[in-house]
Amino acid sequence: MFGNFFNKDEEKEERANQWIKCPKCTSLMYFKEVEAQQQVCPKCNHHFRISAQERIDSIVDENSFVEHDASLAPVDPLKFSDKKSYKKRIDEAKAKTGKTSSVMSGSCTIGEEPVEIAVFDFSFMGGSLGSVEGEKIVRGINRAIEKECGFIIVSASGGARMQESTYSLLQMSKTSAALNRLHQKGLPFISILTDPTMGGVSASFAMLGDIIIAEPSALIGFAGQRVIKQTVGVDLPEGFQRSEFLLEHGLIDMIVNREDIHSTLAGLLKLFNKTNNNYVKITPKRRKTDKEKARIEKSESNKEDNAVETALEKNNAQENS
Ligand SMILES: [Zn+2]
Repeated sequence: MFGNFFNKDEEKEERANQWIKCPKCTSLMYFKEVEAQQQVCPKCNHHFRISAQERIDSIVDENSFVEHDASLAPVDPLKFSDKKSYKKRIDEAKAKTGKTSSVMSGSCTIGEEPVEIAVFDFSFMGGSLGSVEGEKIVRGINRAIEKECGFIIVSASGGARMQESTYSLLQMSKTSAALNRLHQKGLPFISILTDPTMGGVSASFAMLGDIIIAEPSALIGFAGQRVIKQTVGVDLPEGFQRSEFLLEHGLIDMIVNREDIHSTLAGLLKLFNKTNNNYVKITPKRRKTDKEKARIEKSESNKEDNAVETALEKNNAQENS
């Protein structure tokens, strides 16, 4: 679906040779040089994909991360098989990454502010959202509610995991409902979109942040460009699924370079901390009181009465003329 995914085999080979070629500006650079800049191209600011562990290391306070639910592992309720069985795909992903899920979640501090975090790893089955990933996110939200702190998700995902079919799609509503509980408590949810954030992930929690941050040039959308073009039959604007286009059109709040994400999050969490003097309150959507509901119902039934009266008047006028 996405044409320019960095080839993993090439990447490994290049790393072994200690040289790396930027897929954007095609500069050939010493790998250590790029790694020292949190895997951002020093020539053109291209943000390479990084693992969940590297992401956590780059944004949380040193030694503050405590992982939770690491042992949760997917089952195969549908005994799903396409070219390979789902079970085989999970085993391969496990062997490749040493993980059982595309999400790493845990408690940490950022700028000394306690926060719960869930981070996607694209290298595990394309960062796909399955039952385990959804459950880890919901447990993270529950911990945030218990501790009265904020919640952060860093997305890097192709979308829902098709091998889990409806079980995977259900994670969209499950996570969204849990985020609504967080919201009702007035606690912040910060969503960070990295390359790529697509499908069911962008169509649920990734776009529900009180603050939505994206890395530069990240691919963000629902369906891929080719699918949309086939469906609507028109050419699409250049870069219409990149962070910069989304910022220009009001879908996200800010684009932040990888090196500045830690300090940006620290500032935001301080702003939302209730014990802080300059605290910014998140006001949950207020439910209507019974009195207000009655008033609305009354005004609506008045409207109906008025409509009937107007119709009668019209009839009378016609009969009289
Ligand atoms: Zn570059």
